[in-house]
Amino acid sequence: MQKVKKFPDYPNDSGWYASLPARQAGPSLTADISADAVILGAGFAGLSAAHRLAELKPDWQILVVDALPVGMASSGRNSGFMIDLPHTLDSQSYTSSAGGVNDADRQVIAFNRSAIDYGRTLVERYHIDCDWSETGKIHAAATAQGAKSHTDFMRGLDALGEAYTPLSGVQMQATTGIDYYHSGVHTPGTVAVQPAALVRGLAAHLPSNVSLYENTPVTGYEWASPHQLNTPNGCIRARQVLLCNNGFGAMFGLHKNNLLPILLFASMTRVMSSQEQALLGGEKQWGLVPSHPAGATIKRTADQRLVVRTGIKSSYNMRYGPQVIGAMQALHRSSYQRRFGAQLPALEFEYSWGGLLCMSRNEGTVFGTVGKRLHAAICHNGLGVARGTAAGKLLAEHVAGHDSELLRQYLQSPQPAWMPAHPISTLGVMGNIWRHQTLAGREA
Ligand SMILES: Cc1cc2nc3c(=O)[nH]c(=O)nc-3n(C[C@H](O)[C@H](O)[C@H](O)COP(=O)(O)OP(=O)(O)OC[C@H]3O[C@@H](n4cnc5c(N)ncnc54)[C@H](O)[C@@H]3O)c2cc1C
Repeated sequence: MQKVKKFPDYPNDSGWYASLPARQAGPSLTADISADAVILGAGFAGLSAAHRLAELKPDWQILVVDALPVGMASSGRNSGFMIDLPHTLDSQSYTSSAGGVNDADRQVIAFNRSAIDYGRTLVERYHIDCDWSETGKIHAAATAQGAKSHTDFMRGLDALGEAYTPLSGVQMQATTGIDYYHSGVHTPGTVAVQPAALVRGLAAHLPSNVSLYENTPVTGYEWASPHQLNTPNGCIRARQVLLCNNGFGAMFGLHKNNLLPILLFASMTRVMSSQEQALLGGEKQWGLVPSHPAGATIKRTADQRLVVRTGIKSSYNMRYGPQVIGAMQALHRSSYQRRFGAQLPALEFEYSWGGLLCMSRNEGTVFGTVGKRLHAAICHNGLGVARGTAAGKLLAEHVAGHDSELLRQYLQSPQPAWMPAHPISTLGVMGNIWRHQTLAGREA
């Protein structure tokens, strides 16, 4: 039996989670149990896999286990952009070259759009109240330098035949209410969601052949026939295992050195009064993604809060402590004041938190069968709201023996590229983050 050495553990609730009505966590596992399939992880990837597998294999008993209550891990901690046209932390424009279009670009977009379609289907089927908003995203540039990166981006969109609208500084102000942005680019296909509400809704409506166990960390594993997963109060035996636990997949022997755990941080204000909303002006709901890889994502939520997401940390230990969140909160305050200080200098943050995402050096992913009746959908490179959803669904189809063009394509995805072991890799990532953050300037 192999021991699992690191577990998800967050000292702060995310604002997305904490601002929702309180939720009673579901049961944890208290006895030994057998199943046809066990899905490890109840984030977007795991829950999407559970919905689809249950549909395709109605006679299977399926378990989903998670170390935390649903919504407390990264799927409930992110900025809630279900992105169709990706931007990444490592590149300023996602297309293969200026004006160059290749099949890989189109496949990635089709894959992300399959996630949006599946997400919409589930949200509509179960009436999940998660502020699902098909309003797109705005790439925001606070500087002329940032605007320059948009030129490449738009050239790529032209080559792909994708729709977009360039926005002037005046139009950015009309949307956001603030006189901060140089210009922007709106792309219409991205969906904005309240991420904790979505992931909680997906868990609340699992089909009847799925049992969910929360607060149930898997502490040990043996890949055998059947597979065996140990938890503190019960052992799980299952013919099939689907690893949907993102960066923690490395704790189960997958690409140990090649998965980079990265922490991102965010703060959310209290709800603005109607007077404060009038002082801010602009539209009632919008979302900005930065033009720089280390820039700030800014949102005005449906319930009239402002959210600032900036600050990146490499984290070999896959966790952070109170001193880190203090420093990040100061960073968020400064980012906030530069943007909103003229109109709303005293609007307080109600919540500050961090969360993990999983990257690889080459944006490779771990997807498909990785051992005998052992499967994985992990490492979504910072875009896991869409990619996790699509990968989880496709993994279920793969396990159930379904075939599709999209599945065949995704099975060909590059694996995470080789990285040197810690501490060399960690130092390299820290250096890279430092460089990006230093260069981000007003975009952060
Ligand atoms: C601040 C922030 C902002 C972000 N913004 C965006 C965004 O706007 N758009 C976007 O696409 N992505 C964004 N991301 C990334 C996104 O949140 C992740 O890519 C996504 O949550 C991945 O989903 P997942 O289901 O694969 O993994 P997770 O949500 O991490 O789910 C994995 C689950 O596995 C469980 N688990 C792990 N180990 C064990 C174990 N041993 N036993 C039991 N359970 C275990 C965890 O508790 C967790 O619930 C952001 C991330 C952060 C932190």
